[in-house]
Amino acid sequence: IRWTEGRGWHDAQLVPYGPLSLDPANMTLHYAQEIFEGLKAYRRPDGTVATFRPEANAARFQRSARRMAMPELPAETFIAACDALVQQDKAWVPAHGGEDSLYLRPFMIAAEVGLGVRPANEYLFLVIASPAGAYFPGGVEPVSVWLSENYVRAVPGGIGDAKTGGNYAASLLAQAEAAAEGCAQVAYLDAVEHRWVEELGGMNLYFVYGDRIVTPELTGSLLAGITRDSLLTLAGDLGYTSVEGRISKEQWRRDAENGTLTEVFACGTAAVITPVGVVKTANGQWTQSGGEPGEVTLRLRAALLDIQTGKGADAHGWMHELG
Ligand code: PMP
Repeated sequence: IRWTEGRGWHDAQLVPYGPLSLDPANMTLHYAQEIFEGLKAYRRPDGTVATFRPEANAARFQRSARRMAMPELPAETFIAACDALVQQDKAWVPAHGGEDSLYLRPFMIAAEVGLGVRPANEYLFLVIASPAGAYFPGGVEPVSVWLSENYVRAVPGGIGDAKTGGNYAASLLAQAEAAAEGCAQVAYLDAVEHRWVEELGGMNLYFVYGDRIVTPELTGSLLAGITRDSLLTLAGDLGYTSVEGRISKEQWRRDAENGTLTEVFACGTAAVITPVGVVKTANGQWTQSGGEPGEVTLRLRAALLDIQTGKGADAHGWMHELG
């Protein structure tokens, strides 16, 4: 679907997957005016297909568009585009060892040609899809995390709560640093005090204190994850108290070592819920929960997956049915 100034959104098309042809002076290539989303369609045991909370992705896409000075796409157009692609790909072949889901990647780029720094006057909205890969082929395993002191992911007043490519480009060096330390993920601290834990490179964090679970509050410099939001609700259903708050790096280490912090997990569309095991910092490391997935982590994971895969009741009306 194309947006042109003065005309709005027009010319929706479903076309075979293939390369895009872009002018070398396309403004996106130079000024990174780009936003995207990630969501999944699940095939259930009865053969029906449904996407998980697409209206939440549509709303976040509109917030990202506003922050990046791009036109807002109506939520119904966003959802209709995802639906049309899922219907077209309904016979998808699941990735080996994975859940039976199709990952959808809606995105918007500037389509104007020119080298002036200003919002473009033409945009393209596209959706591509691929069967979601197996995240845990051998069962749920804790990820190792590198607590970055050298890099931040986002700054107050910046673009951290928009889902835009620049945030991910800025994270690559920190990710390489984590890999060099033998860790799978980076944990980011806030940019002002370098003290408050914000999120991982592509997942939000939860801290479990017995039956009380805490997730970093939305400060404007972390992404408002849809899995994070769903778990605030699901935790209550399972009898836990869930709160948004602040956890410092000192508190993380102290509470893990004295045992009051019983579990830590990360969450996002791709992995759903991942336990955090080893946490490594420039000043030493510790292992959360003996490196085993905890009970709360596994219960929440099962509850969310039951809704998504159609094994359990959809008590909150989160599944968008496609038939
Ligand atoms: N934080 C970041 C930086 C992410 O890229 C993602 C993945 N979209 C998340 C958190 C988790 O968000 P969601 O639950 O909507 O996938």
